[in-house]
Amino acid sequence: MAQALQKASGSSLGKRKREEDSSCPNLVFPPVPIYNNDSVIEVTVGRNRKKRTWRVAEGPLTYYSTYFQGALRPGHFKEGEERKIHLTHDDPDVFQLFFYWLFTHQLWDKSLSPGSVPLDWDLLCRIYVFGDARGIPALRNTAIDALMDKIGVEWEVLLSTQSHYIYKNTLEGSLLRKLAVDQVIKTRNVKVLLKVPCHWEFSTEVAVEMQRVTGNRKIIGQDDWKLINKCEYHDHTEVTSMKG
Ligand SMILES: [Zn+2]
Repeated sequence: MAQALQKASGSSLGKRKREEDSSCPNLVFPPVPIYNNDSVIEVTVGRNRKKRTWRVAEGPLTYYSTYFQGALRPGHFKEGEERKIHLTHDDPDVFQLFFYWLFTHQLWDKSLSPGSVPLDWDLLCRIYVFGDARGIPALRNTAIDALMDKIGVEWEVLLSTQSHYIYKNTLEGSLLRKLAVDQVIKTRNVKVLLKVPCHWEFSTEVAVEMQRVTGNRKIIGQDDWKLINKCEYHDHTEVTSMKG
């Protein structure tokens, strides 16, 4: 996987304070009682031999996810009565990270790998798409943060493999699409797109954006990339406000 990742050649504009640890002011933990285990939901993910089951406190599931709010509303779905949900088409590896994120707001233990992003590009994109499908904007934002950090640390960009996955699994206006386009516009010579078979919509959007910014475009280096405000690519929708 990720064979089409393109090495960067951008220049650094000097040392500045790294802000990769800055976090979104909109991502806050819910009140402690949300985590009480009185109501536990059995969530089974995947099919056949890959199938795995988690027991998850209902509070955090419904706090962050419009999907779980709907599925667990009494009388709304069969699952609401059975306290069991089966996500046949979802990926257990992605759900495992979501489960960890529910209690930490992280996708991995950052104390074990300071300054690096140990998850691969494809997995981070799949986490974003899961957050899309299950109505979890805060999880999508965390996936965006990890992708932006990974770009900044490894100085590579999402291109061929990921562009196909992203454009097949997100809708027009997706912030992941916006990030995929902007990373090229902001950091690369666009000829990079000629070297790898990207999804046609991705290539088209890059070309259109290039036309739009022509004249004002400035290719930035690794240090400046790390200074970009990640909230530009966040969805700050308040899931809890949809309750009731
Ligand atoms: Zn934000």
